[in-house]
Amino acid sequence: MTAPPATWDAVVVGAGIAGLMAASTIAASGRRVIVLDKSRGVGGRMATRRVGGAVCDHGAQFFTARTEAFQHVIDTAAREGMVVEWCRGFARDGSIGMAAATSGDGHPRYRGARGMSDLPKWLVSRNEAITVRTAARATAVAIGAGAVRVTVEDEHGAGDVVEAAGCVLTPPVPQSLDLLAAGAVLGRMGADRVARLQTVAYDPCFAVMLVLARPSLVPEPGAIQFADDSSGPVAWVADNRRKGLSAVPALTVHATGSFSREHFDAPLSEVATSLSQAIRPWIDGDPQEVIVERSIHRWKYATPTTVLPDPVGVVMERPPIACCGDAFAGPRVEGAFASGAATGAWMVQQLQGGHR
Ligand SMILES: Cc1cc2nc3c(=O)[nH]c(=O)nc-3n(C[C@H](O)[C@H](O)[C@H](O)COP(=O)(O)OP(=O)(O)OC[C@H]3O[C@@H](n4cnc5c(N)ncnc54)[C@H](O)[C@@H]3O)c2cc1C
Repeated sequence: MTAPPATWDAVVVGAGIAGLMAASTIAASGRRVIVLDKSRGVGGRMATRRVGGAVCDHGAQFFTARTEAFQHVIDTAAREGMVVEWCRGFARDGSIGMAAATSGDGHPRYRGARGMSDLPKWLVSRNEAITVRTAARATAVAIGAGAVRVTVEDEHGAGDVVEAAGCVLTPPVPQSLDLLAAGAVLGRMGADRVARLQTVAYDPCFAVMLVLARPSLVPEPGAIQFADDSSGPVAWVADNRRKGLSAVPALTVHATGSFSREHFDAPLSEVATSLSQAIRPWIDGDPQEVIVERSIHRWKYATPTTVLPDPVGVVMERPPIACCGDAFAGPRVEGAFASGAATGAWMVQQLQGGHR
């Protein structure tokens, strides 16, 4: 007996850059695709938030493009006013009041015009063929009657099931494996595929946002990228006003992976205080008076420490299920972009191959 057609050709879990690129690629082939995200907005780790009167990027801070495909998307978004070039390198040593040494390798560093979430929002707005459902948390990915069945829970705990011929998973790999385990798919996968996906690990990252009463002392172009071997707790400080996002001075401070791992379970207020003290030299005056508002976010899976060489993390071919994101083929925004696009193309091929 032939199974009845699934409602969607593909369901994509996650509306970060990887999920949106996978969905765009699938939709471009004329297939019906739905994207689910547990958050209220799109962008994932390309995240911008308001803190008091300030606007702060608190996840990814900039992106680079080393492939023609990503450069083409950036150039198109730039023409539409959604992306701008920020600079060609950042201060490395944090010198105050002088032209600090920059990591000037000549590559443009881009940012969203009003924040990093601009690029993912723009990808959604130009792709009417993609249906995006936010505040929709996937809790299990199962297989039934030859289709993929994703159990979804909304903000109020109400559940339903999205059925599709194929599925792309873009949450951090440990969470994608949990979804597959919850739907009893893990046991149906090849052991080598499970083992490969299980090697993927991430560093956490604390992001502290500080709204200031007066301009910071962060040197041009408005950010310091501390050297990898820096022994301090801080990896990055950006001034969101100098960056061009915020009407009022506001810093985003990122902790190093080692500090974030070590303090992962510490009270957030203690962590925020340590990181605020560590960037004391870039605050003009007494921090007690100058810092007028503070907010902290803990990214559990910030950046992959293991990256698999293949852009497509195939789970199985029948029905087609694959993982993708920045842990595949290259880290960071541009790696996630490439992995999403490649996985979308793989899904189209699988669906054309007769599964649907
Ligand atoms: C603090 C920090 C700083 C960074 N700095 C930079 C930088 O300067 N430059 C750079 O290039 N990269 C940077 N990165 C990395 C960059 O943000 C990521 O590589 C990229 O955004 C990953 O995109 P993605 O689509 O793979 O994953 P994500 O953006 O994480 O997207 C995954 C999506 O899945 C959703 N999701 C997860 N679980 C579920 C579920 N169960 N149901 C439904 N939805 C779910 C999430 O809400 C999320 O939207 C940084 C990251 C962090 C955290």
